Amino acid sequence: MKPKNKSRDGEVRCLNCFTRFVPPPRSEKVPCPSCGIEWRISWASSTFAKIRGPAWDKYPRMNQ
Ligand SMILES: [Zn+2]
Repeated sequence: MKPKNKSRDGEVRCLNCFTRFVPPPRSEKVPCPSCGIEWRISWASSTFAKIRGPAWDKYPRMNQ
């Protein structure tokens, strides 16, 4: 088991449903496992992921 650090490696939080998840390393886009919205990911380092924004180009329109 990994010790828990203050900064959780590679973990991001979905901006839609606030679920925390760990995207695959170096992935550029990853869907939220909870709500399915795809996010663009940027990597500040090999283990530090950040959500840049929604990958809306894959979703031409989302009607509610
Ligand atoms: Zn979500």
